[in-house]
Amino acid sequence: MRFYPVKTLLITKSIFNKWIWSFKTKSKEVYLTFDDGPIPEITPWVLNQLDLHNAKATFFCIGDNIRKHPDVFHQLIEKGHRVGNHTFNHLKGWKTKKEVYLQNTSKAEAYLKNQNQPKLFRPPYGSITHQQSKHLRMLGYKIIMWDVLSADFDQSLTAKQCTNNVLKNVKKGSIIVFHDSKKAFPRLKETLPKVLEELHKKGFQFKVIP
Ligand SMILES: [Zn+2]
Repeated sequence: MRFYPVKTLLITKSIFNKWIWSFKTKSKEVYLTFDDGPIPEITPWVLNQLDLHNAKATFFCIGDNIRKHPDVFHQLIEKGHRVGNHTFNHLKGWKTKKEVYLQNTSKAEAYLKNQNQPKLFRPPYGSITHQQSKHLRMLGYKIIMWDVLSADFDQSLTAKQCTNNVLKNVKKGSIIVFHDSKKAFPRLKETLPKVLEELHKKGFQFKVIP
């Protein structure tokens, strides 16, 4: 039983219209995003896959993982990918007091800063309260959601199902979610190469979130 929509509904997008769900464009371009890294066993593999297709992506990093694996984090920057904030401890917004949530986000920001990039934030689990979101936006963050979920985190799915989740729902300007985590890797290792190959064949380019 699945409890999450693989494709974000139009109604969701219009109610939560302060958040970014996808980009309007006539060009064949998509925005790949990877949450929960950087992880030494997984993230460098993702970078190699992206290189094969000259693809750029956005990585929503957990602050504590940057602290533990600064070398892997620097590879993201060196290769011209974009990094965003995913809190320091992967907190669930709805279950966390606003002050704690903001403090945790700013703790993560200390590890992301000086990269001269736009301030991007993705709430872990897509869970964030109105007040938390309002404050982060006041601090200059863009809240980046998605319109296509690979659901690679779901251990009950096959890699083929995750691949289909993406290929059947992707459009021009889509923001697609993957995870560079050990949990997702059994599916990611097949899904990512296939998605890159298929979209590349169709003429799509892979860009960082502006
Ligand atoms: Zn996450």
